[in-house]
Amino acid sequence: MIDPERAAADTPGCRGEGVFLDSAGSSLPPSVVLDTVIGHLRREAQIGGYRAAHERGEELEAGYEVFADLLGCAPEEIAFTDSATRSWLSIFGAVPLAAGDRILLTEAEYAGNAIPILRRAEAVGAEVRVVPSSETGDISIDALADLLDERTRLVSLVHAPTNGGLLASVREAAALARDAGAYVLLDACQSVGQVQVRADELDVDFITGTGRKWLRGPRGTGFLYARREVLAGLASDGVDLRGGSWVERGRTEVREDARRFELWEFSIADRLGLIAAARYLLDLGVAEVEAAVQAVSARLREGLASVDGVEVRDLGPRRSGIVSFTVEGMPAPRVVELLAERGVTVTVSRRPSTRIDMERRGLTEVVRASPHYFVSPGEVDAAVAAVAEVAAGARG
Ligand SMILES: *Cc1c(COP(=O)(O)O)cnc(C)c1O
Repeated sequence: MIDPERAAADTPGCRGEGVFLDSAGSSLPPSVVLDTVIGHLRREAQIGGYRAAHERGEELEAGYEVFADLLGCAPEEIAFTDSATRSWLSIFGAVPLAAGDRILLTEAEYAGNAIPILRRAEAVGAEVRVVPSSETGDISIDALADLLDERTRLVSLVHAPTNGGLLASVREAAALARDAGAYVLLDACQSVGQVQVRADELDVDFITGTGRKWLRGPRGTGFLYARREVLAGLASDGVDLRGGSWVERGRTEVREDARRFELWEFSIADRLGLIAAARYLLDLGVAEVEAAVQAVSARLREGLASVDGVEVRDLGPRRSGIVSFTVEGMPAPRVVELLAERGVTVTVSRRPSTRIDMERRGLTEVVRASPHYFVSPGEVDAAVAAVAEVAAGARG
């Protein structure tokens, strides 16, 4: 069992700063992550970036094994990037797509993925279809089965949407899609670090994720998993001198592993911080973290559901650590502001970030609260009391 008080004691941001409920936005790093990043920046300032990087060469290389452990794959299937979106765009751009091909996405699709999907589909003459959700708000597996055909090139899945507590049935969806011969790209940006996400269990081709959210790593970091067997079939236009080599004047070669998606330049300090964050998670235990996040978010959800004038907006039979709600008679940004005044950090999720889902439900914005395992039950109760006060004020 993770002790939230101990976890908080190891988190500089937890010292007297109120109740932090925004790990789905940008979480608070543990001390080791902060010290690793700052320590490396100091070292670079002392001896220069090249020598400083050389000193940490082994740890940078070990990072691939750490993430392979975390994601249940081989180190050759891991690449590091500067964001989840960069990971996603690199993969999406490398998947061959032609006129008449079909791309499927789900109602939970994130704008950062939907925009490139819609634009590229239009450019090449591909068709985009949305897989409807079932009554519970989860992906409808029957509807997916109906939409999959031999034209379907790519199925884009979101494990945990940015705007609410759904934890989608991606394993079932991926199995069907792969059987139909489609590539399956899983956006696990909101799930890695709070629930188990393993390539060897989910059977997807690609997984993308970020450092800054539930992993508690630095901003400006991302990673991806790409299944070894599919790499050879992907395009390689975006490859630079890290992912490829210039072997003769007119001849180049491309790496056969996932690192073809990396660029030569990156922030070494942030990468080391990301690796430290993943090691920290593995030391705690992913299952332990998952249990703790489930417990703390369930407590928050139940607390909020009992407040007059508050409606919890989470969907699905399985829930993530994201708790979304609205307050009757008060716009979400105002709720966020009033909660900030009471020392509670939450954020707003707006319609354009997850347009299909928000339109279907007639929502323009929701308040998003995302407690991590370092939030104690007492803090959850204090946050619920603060929301109750705000909601009472909204009713006059
Ligand atoms: C935050 C988020 C992203 C993008 O992450 P970046 O760190 O901005 O690249 C992608 N998908 C989902 C579901 C997200 O919530």
